Amino acid sequence: MRLAVFDTHRFDRAALDEANAGFGHALTYLEPRLEPQTARLAEGFPAVCSFVNDKVNADTLEVLTQGGVRLIATRSAGYNHIDLVAADRLGIRVARVPAYSPNAVAEYAVALVLSLVRHIPRASVRVRDWNFSLDGLVGVDLHARTVGVVGTGRIGRVAARIFRGFGCRVLCYDVNPDPEWERELGVRFAPLDTVFAESDILSLHVPLTPSTLHMVNAEALARMKRGVVLVNTGRGALIDSRALLNALKSGHVGAAGLDVYEEEEGIFFEDLSGQVLQDDVLARLLTFPNVLVTAHQAFLTREALNNIAATTLGNVRAFERGEPLDNEVRAEEVLRAASPVR
Ligand code: NAD
Repeated sequence: MRLAVFDTHRFDRAALDEANAGFGHALTYLEPRLEPQTARLAEGFPAVCSFVNDKVNADTLEVLTQGGVRLIATRSAGYNHIDLVAADRLGIRVARVPAYSPNAVAEYAVALVLSLVRHIPRASVRVRDWNFSLDGLVGVDLHARTVGVVGTGRIGRVAARIFRGFGCRVLCYDVNPDPEWERELGVRFAPLDTVFAESDILSLHVPLTPSTLHMVNAEALARMKRGVVLVNTGRGALIDSRALLNALKSGHVGAAGLDVYEEEEGIFFEDLSGQVLQDDVLARLLTFPNVLVTAHQAFLTREALNNIAATTLGNVRAFERGEPLDNEVRAEEVLRAASPVR
């Protein structure tokens, strides 16, 4: 099937080309992000492939429909960048990659925690300047710390298991808690307020939905322990970045590891070196010695890229053949899944 692949980079082209040897789709790589202004590039294609920072809103979807697009195969687990209700209305089906490597993201979240609590980026910069002193680099053991895992889906569960391996006490929050898994792993589900209040380290693994938007806001931050280490590999807008800035300035938040940022669109994945960064909040965040920002790379492992490519192209083949689209996301199911069952 002819597939217009938006927002492509060298790393995903290589994985898609390799996986496509087993599928034989006709792939057209496009560098621009998919948004209303670029959607016309997909004219004549039955399917498009999108990525996390594309803006697949109602306007984009209108243009895509007019151009004949009937499938959006997003090469991501998250689908908050796609207006599912509009897609449904316009008869465009949406498929995603539900689980390409929860390990990749969970391991990265733990890497951010360790980097922060042991000051590894600072230490690394320091020794390159032949400064071998240890002053200011005192860390803490993870063992016996309380870690809050917010969202215990595929990624959150792996993260919780790794933290248990460190000997941490793990507190979890999920809209749909799983008592059997809780018992098996020796973690404890608790209300969100308790998880916020009792955790030394907090790791966010919920999807971005209207109910999780800014779940970490000024009030939530105020309820957290002084010195809390906050790690976000979920979606940027789970955190109100301005509130986080203030909490960092006051010293209430001890450290933050951010692989996602609420205004990352147009910044992350781009080489802006040599330009003036226009986002003042991000620029300020980057000045803190206790903040580690990376450009949405938690997913970026060889295993994950290969799985993303194979599943995405498999989704397109299932659609082409009229077979059941196992990885389809539908507006109604998403709304239902976000409601508590108890
Ligand atoms: P998942 O669907 O397996 O798990 C999400 C969990 O969140 C589920 O258990 C669900 O019940 C829970 N949840 C949903 N709404 C909630 C709410 N309002 N309150 C509490 N819990 C709620 O998803 P996953 O594969 O674990 O991925 C989690 C998120 O991580 C994705 O949605 C995506 O945004 C993000 N992600 C980031 C990267 C990256 O590179 N940084 C890569 C992959 C995924």
